[in-house]
Amino acid sequence: MSNKCFSLALHGGAGAKPGHDYAVEIAHMRGLVEAARDRLAAGASALDVAVETVVALEASGLYIAGRGASPNADGEYELDASLMDGATRLAGSVAALQGFKSPILAARAVMEQTPHVMLAGQGAIDFAADQGLETVEDPEAWFTGAGAFEDNHPPETLPTGTVGCVVRDAEGRLAAATSTAGVFGKRPGRVGDSPVIGAGTYADDCAAVSCTGQGEYFIRAAVAAQIAHRVRFGGEPLDAAAKAAIQEVAALGGHGGLIAVDASGNIAMPFASSGLKRAALLPDGTILSAAF
Ligand code: ASP
Repeated sequence: MSNKCFSLALHGGAGAKPGHDYAVEIAHMRGLVEAARDRLAAGASALDVAVETVVALEASGLYIAGRGASPNADGEYELDASLMDGATRLAGSVAALQGFKSPILAARAVMEQTPHVMLAGQGAIDFAADQGLETVEDPEAWFTGAGAFEDNHPPETLPTGTVGCVVRDAEGRLAAATSTAGVFGKRPGRVGDSPVIGAGTYADDCAAVSCTGQGEYFIRAAVAAQIAHRVRFGGEPLDAAAKAAIQEVAALGGHGGLIAVDASGNIAMPFASSGLKRAALLPDGTILSAAF
């Protein structure tokens, strides 16, 4: 494959509800893939495209992240996000962030403006404010709770919804970004896999991965790093590595899915859940989109 090929995948969360019509989300995700394709064709970096795409997913209000966030058990909105640049192995993350419109921009600022990888709670809030990031003045009015229709899930099933993007740019650089409000009805202070580098998000020069699903299981299986390491150290094809990792989540009793891209631009989007809202641009220019 020519080094000038690029590809990407994005997701709008695992756990699509059987019988629900996701036409709006699928059209939206396709539009974002087309926009990302144009940016990549113009030479944009994998990191920029991953962040821009997640910003758009957050702002849409269609997914359980950013504007679509649902509250925790106390009615508060605690959001998690992270990103990783495979070319430099730099990473940034925020956990339990409250009051900001784009958690992924806060995660990027952590990566670029601090020597740290992760800021949580009040420290993340103070930092995002120092960075002048856009705030949410009235959470009740701003957050749409896109996942509210899934309220009929019993709490013990940890129903889910998250957004993410993985990109291989024309220079061969990889990046991953993930943003979420976490599982429905979570305890205040609960942090899932999405902001944990190596669990919900990971990128090196072999693979970039963004996960969605019951985060506790993705942390315990170190899913995102596991896939990159299977490729790097085990020489496994991306598809096999991604399937093995998601099968481990299922074997532990969890459910979810993920998107991944490797250094050649191959895309994998396996899931062990009722569905995975997803779209992708393959290296040959084909665009895929589906919810189930
Ligand atoms: N993985 C996220 C978490 O556990 C939730 C999701 O993907 O929907 O916080």
